[in-house]
Amino acid sequence: MSKILVIAEHLGGKLNPSTARAVSAAAAAKPEAIDVLVLADNADAIAAEAAKIEGVSRVLTVTRAENAHALAAVLAPQVAKAAAGYSHVFAPSTTFGKDLAPRVAALLGVAQVSDVMAVEGSHTFKRPIYAGNAIVTVEADPAQTVVATIRTASWPAAAIGANGTPVEALNLDVALPSYTRFVELKQGKSDRPDLQGASKVVSGGRGVGSKENFEIIYKFADRIGAAVGASRAAVDAGYVPNEMQVGQTGKIIAPELYMAIGISGAIQHLTGIKDAGTIVAINKDAEAPIFEIADLGLVGDLFKIVPELEAALAG
Ligand code: FAD
Repeated sequence: MSKILVIAEHLGGKLNPSTARAVSAAAAAKPEAIDVLVLADNADAIAAEAAKIEGVSRVLTVTRAENAHALAAVLAPQVAKAAAGYSHVFAPSTTFGKDLAPRVAALLGVAQVSDVMAVEGSHTFKRPIYAGNAIVTVEADPAQTVVATIRTASWPAAAIGANGTPVEALNLDVALPSYTRFVELKQGKSDRPDLQGASKVVSGGRGVGSKENFEIIYKFADRIGAAVGASRAAVDAGYVPNEMQVGQTGKIIAPELYMAIGISGAIQHLTGIKDAGTIVAINKDAEAPIFEIADLGLVGDLFKIVPELEAALAG
């Protein structure tokens, strides 16, 4: 029988929703137990949050000053040690998990399964390849620990219930490397909803034309309470900062509503929104590929359509 260890992602003393999504993927493998591992300098509040995720058998904490910041080089040896007795180690396929999981796999001497979007069996997974153009079925060796990253946009967050799950402190006797040290965390600050967790996202592309013109996207997003994203072309042109990029090399998101404004719909962009609910496209080119996947399409000049939509919503 399988036992799955899910690595908790957290920042600033708060659990990231990616953890509950990784728990959903773990539950799909129908294991005997799902334990969540919290590595932190002060794990109490995070563990209490993790203990409320339904389906979790135990929350394990490793409290060390060195775990104050999520440095993969420091966390990986601890996860590798904690993994003893588990058939699977799951981490979210976020920057955190993509940094950590390969190191854990290397320390355990196993191959990693990346970007799990579906679980077919305890050792059979589906994952996208070629920027989401094809889906491949991967079979992991049942004789080895499965280390996998979970494509969070493909999984709903496991429900949050009452706090009845036991929390246990682990005392791992692991020597930690000192060649990697924390210097600084630079984070974009915004009053708008977080791009990765928002239920509505409005994105602008190269068609928006300039940094100044992006104001039209911000204004519209604020009107409907949406997060703001962008295509890579808009990021590369300097219209918006990097953290707003949606797509293969940006954020993979699954909002209920996604509005692509002045975005052509390149495959690398679409792979970031394939799990979105309703997709609305505004583009002046009726042949733009975005219309092939859009649920609603408006052909026309965004500088005319977006203010009209905004005015209609205001009225
Ligand atoms: P364009 O393709 O130039 O499209 C602009 C659109 O705006 C056009 O369809 C045009 O008709 C429309 N338009 C122009 N003016 C108006 C107007 N006034 N009103 C209405 N519509 C208008 N891209 C991503 O987005 N995310 C990624 O993560 C990503 N990763 C990549 C990774 C790799 C390895 C590679 C090779 C590429 C990647 N790309 C990514 C780039 C991708 O291939 C496209 O180049 C990019 O998505 C194009 O952005 P865009 O749609 O804004 O620009």
